Amino acid sequence: MNCLCAECRGRRDQGMEAWPGAGAPAVLRIESVREVGNWGLNFTWNDTHSTGIYTWEILREWDEGRSAEAAGHE
Ligand SMILES: [Zn+2]
Repeated sequence: MNCLCAECRGRRDQGMEAWPGAGAPAVLRIESVREVGNWGLNFTWNDTHSTGIYTWEILREWDEGRSAEAAGHE
């Protein structure tokens, strides 16, 4: 849902759900991951999405959001 690839960003920009798309696997899984310089990580998902760099800042932000949720905050 937060996929950073151009296709998913485009779908969200048009107000469409980015995932699941037609033929998407029921269980989404990371097949491989690689470090992109000092920028962050690039994931290859089992639904073949593999573009987009998840920057350290974004990953940190999402993790902090999740931690806040677990603690009972919005
Ligand atoms: Zn995508």
